[in-house]
Amino acid sequence: MSKIDLHDYVATVEDYPEPGVFFRDISPLMGDGPAYKQAIDQIVDFAKDLDVDLIAGPESRGFIVGSPLAYAMGIGFVPARKSGKLPRKAVSASYTLEYGGVNELEIHEDAIQPGQRVLIVDDLLATGGTINATRKIVEELGGVVAGVAFIIELEDLHGREKIMEAGEVPFVALMEY
Ligand code: AMP
Repeated sequence: MSKIDLHDYVATVEDYPEPGVFFRDISPLMGDGPAYKQAIDQIVDFAKDLDVDLIAGPESRGFIVGSPLAYAMGIGFVPARKSGKLPRKAVSASYTLEYGGVNELEIHEDAIQPGQRVLIVDDLLATGGTINATRKIVEELGGVVAGVAFIIELEDLHGREKIMEAGEVPFVALMEY
């Protein structure tokens, strides 16, 4: 089957959620079976030599990328949830958002065993705050970041550099804007 251009499945919304922001909406991609499957398959291909034990993804669009990926790879998925949602003891990290404000993510403390290799995924990399907070928790629990994967990278916000400042890891973004 011929390769789909995933850019055709990203809806750009100008000035959302506030003036000056170009919101890259992946809903059309998720809503199209072949495009969604191709995106997940491309990440499976990236991960094939990384010896991954677990996928972790931040709430909520990280779940949309991470869950089918975990299923395709036959491994588990660990959600990094917004604070106050997890019922059992959790480890948390806070970060500032691209368009202002502070957020906190949490992972159950028994979700990752020391030494497990974790691939962290999200729909989109902007400033890197979300992914670095997720990474901080994964590492605090003794996990090893096997790699990071995104559907979209916003290059101007230099999130990739922020990730690498915390330690070099294998990286993939299926599209750059
Ligand atoms: P950041 O922590 O700055 O890397 O922001 C990444 C998170 O915010 C991702 O989970 C995205 O879903 C969301 N996000 C940030 N900026 C945008 C944008 N311009 N378009 C769509 N989603 C965004």
